[in-house]
Amino acid sequence: MSSRDRLRIAIQKSGRLSDASIDLLARCGLKFRRSRDKLFCFGETLPVDLLLVRDDDVPGMIAQGVCDLGIVGRNVLLEQIFETGSDRAAAPFREVRPLGFGHCRLSLAVPDEFAYSEPSQLAGLRIATSYPNLLADWLERAGVEAGVVTLSGSVEIAPRLGTADCICDLVSSGATLAANQLKEAAIILESEAVLAAGSVMPGDERGELIDMLLRRIEGVIQVRVSKLVMWQSPRASLDAITRLLPNGQRPTVTSIEGLDNQVSVQAICNDAITWQHLEDMKRAGARQMLVLPVEQMLT
Ligand code: ATP
Ligand code: ZN
Repeated sequence: MSSRDRLRIAIQKSGRLSDASIDLLARCGLKFRRSRDKLFCFGETLPVDLLLVRDDDVPGMIAQGVCDLGIVGRNVLLEQIFETGSDRAAAPFREVRPLGFGHCRLSLAVPDEFAYSEPSQLAGLRIATSYPNLLADWLERAGVEAGVVTLSGSVEIAPRLGTADCICDLVSSGATLAANQLKEAAIILESEAVLAAGSVMPGDERGELIDMLLRRIEGVIQVRVSKLVMWQSPRASLDAITRLLPNGQRPTVTSIEGLDNQVSVQAICNDAITWQHLEDMKRAGARQMLVLPVEQMLT
């Protein structure tokens, strides 16, 4: 491992993951100065710099020790882990944690008129994909022998061009499939953006920086859904109301001056709160309910 004293993170230069990656790091307190070539961004607040690359290059940059961390789709990371031929534990990079954005599925899609019900129907067919290793692994686990046609792009038109019978590609809404007279038949991988790192964490200051960053990411992801809920209620209703909170933490209870059996309550909820929750709480005796966003959290 190279001895650098600054941490380097590789993210996608321009594409579906770019904005959300920058936003996540900004929320972790990292600010960057954009250099003119826009490939390297110097970190102004912490000794952490950014490398802006193609998403496919993120795992390789980690494997070569050029970067310590990366943000990349699980689909790309796992495909390259399989490509190195090693099992997940022996690969030169690994998924540290999911990041909660860039959700999509790597799916098998077949022409509209294909009545798909099980993988065995794929035997002998040609499947076009940019993810030959993930597809081959899925076919092997399903015990099916099919031809894998590797294409680097425009996979969805392969069936119409006659170069394949069906495809295995990324899907989010399914609109692209529908526009090409294809339908989703089976999910091969559920994907989202993930934080990737090398198989060994640096033991020096960079290791400490990574630990700190991980704690901050944890906090940022958590506050996206967490809310502070406040209300007033009779002390006797407290248990019943608290039980209605989605993934609620133990409440802080204060007495209200001049009102003996009434309390003022606040609690952090770690799941989304809906109107239904509030209406149920009201029925159980809560009044003056407030739901406040949480700006920052360090637990
Ligand atoms: P690059 O120029 O960096 O190679 P790209 O064209 O390979 O870009 P994008 O299309 O920007 O990559 O997608 C990046 C990642 O976004 C995908 O690998 C995937 O993890 C995620 N993603 C989320 N939704 C979709 C979708 N509907 N189609 C494709 N990728 C998606
Ligand atoms: Zn790419």
